[in-house]
Amino acid sequence: MRMRYEGTIYRPPSESHSLLIQCTIGCPHNRCTFCAMYKDKTFRIRPVADIRQDLNSAREYYGENVQSLFLPDGNTILMKTGELVEILSYARQLFPRLSRITMYGSAQFLNLKSLEELTALREAGLDRIHSGMESGDDVTLKRICKGSTAEQIVAAGRKVIQAGMELSEYVLIGIGGQERTREHALESARVLNAINPDFIRLRTLIPMPGTPLFESYQKGEFHLLGPHQALWETRLFIDNLTVEATQLFSDHHSNYAWVHGRLPLDKARLLEKIDELLLMPETEFRPPLEGAL
Ligand code: SF4
Repeated sequence: MRMRYEGTIYRPPSESHSLLIQCTIGCPHNRCTFCAMYKDKTFRIRPVADIRQDLNSAREYYGENVQSLFLPDGNTILMKTGELVEILSYARQLFPRLSRITMYGSAQFLNLKSLEELTALREAGLDRIHSGMESGDDVTLKRICKGSTAEQIVAAGRKVIQAGMELSEYVLIGIGGQERTREHALESARVLNAINPDFIRLRTLIPMPGTPLFESYQKGEFHLLGPHQALWETRLFIDNLTVEATQLFSDHHSNYAWVHGRLPLDKARLLEKIDELLLMPETEFRPPLEGAL
């Protein structure tokens, strides 16, 4: 039997070589105004027995040589800690060469776990959390119905790191619109400075048809950033980062700023690169809606 998948499966680009074993279907929040990923799915947690069967199928299909494992869908961290420990331990047993197991977890669901629970997950083999904070600006977070405040994002991020896991935080350039671009840049930097995550990954907002944000955009209530405005926002954000040992990636087709580097070491180079991009005419960048589903 092959592994079973339900609906469209999303995973971070950095997990493109990972084995994907679906543990949850959909997202338990599913209310972010910009997100179209799981609109067609009703959230549920798969039975552990089914997940074990899929892991067995993967073992038969790929043998022992799986190097990394990602556990979709959205917010798999919500699963009961005991069930997750069982899945992680079983995966480690089947695939002894695994270098990494990761999953999605946003702040509101990470905060449901105690430090002890997160530590138990780390000890069972969970290495990294991919967390979409989107913004550190409370006004923006409320408008997009993210379900967390900046303070809760900081608490969740610090707890993940304290538990010994790596943390990859996702920032959505442009999500504050033209009205909150400055606050979004500055507050997102402030929140990340307080967390010091291992990775910061940039995404740029593309309004997706079928989402509340797309409707606001069409009605003229939400003012999308153009390429230069998005670059200015990214510049302000990076310039205000004082993180101590973080890798910044722009690993997504939506971005206008192709900047990758280690912070604080590469900050001047990253800003110079953005200044160069700002010299390019806006017509040379992707149109603002390109990539909308
Ligand atoms: S928490 Fe993540 S997956 Fe769920 S609706 Fe928000 S952005 Fe989408």
